[in-house]
Amino acid sequence: MLADHEERFRRSASGFLERPAGDYAELLRRGHVSSPEGVEPDEWRKEIRRKARQDKIRVITSRDGDGAFAMLNRMIPDDQAMDVMRHAFDRSTLLGELARRSAELGHQVSGWLGHDDESIAFCEHCGARIYTRQGSPTIQDGEALIDPCPSSPA
Ligand SMILES: [Zn+2]
Repeated sequence: MLADHEERFRRSASGFLERPAGDYAELLRRGHVSSPEGVEPDEWRKEIRRKARQDKIRVITSRDGDGAFAMLNRMIPDDQAMDVMRHAFDRSTLLGELARRSAELGHQVSGWLGHDDESIAFCEHCGARIYTRQGSPTIQDGEALIDPCPSSPA
């Protein structure tokens, strides 16, 4: 993994650990948030909506493949809302593709930690990492995309 990506991987991991307020805080900060991998999407949406109701904030949530997506319902012009949604859909497509590629090498990736356009994951067996950044160009790096998993039974 490139040193720069290594640094971003580390920062993403610690950023996540230092964000105990979780996805709702992220929603307020960024205006939109995707559910973390592995959570039950409808439960996640319910929890986001419950917190928003408490704060009298209007939110829109929707299913997004195996996950879910929430955004603040404020004066976002329709074309921008579409961009935000499309971005979230692209993200889940990208992460699904990377997970598939690492699985072909025998890795079992953890859930993804996402922060802004960056996402990280690691193999639960051997610790091989994936770092990706959505954008132009999209960056994909990490041992889990290149090296076979040493702990794989195959
Ligand atoms: Zn592995």
